[in-house]
Amino acid sequence: MAIELYPSSFRCDCGHDSYFFENTVREMKNMSIHKRVRLSDSEDNKHTIIFFQGKAIEIICPQRGTCTITDSQ
Ligand SMILES: [Zn+2]
Repeated sequence: MAIELYPSSFRCDCGHDSYFFENTVREMKNMSIHKRVRLSDSEDNKHTIIFFQGKAIEIICPQRGTCTITDSQ
């Protein structure tokens, strides 16, 4: 299962970790209160994190498609 790794990283179902700056994730969470926003990492194996209602809800994986974020650590 995809998980959020506190404070600003995300692990996909496929085992890929996406790292972001803490400020970036905080900003995305604020922006996502009323609409969905997307944050992509800049790696070859590109993953996109979807934020909505102030939290990260899904990871879009190039191999597995949409993975729901079910947990945070
Ligand atoms: Zn993945």
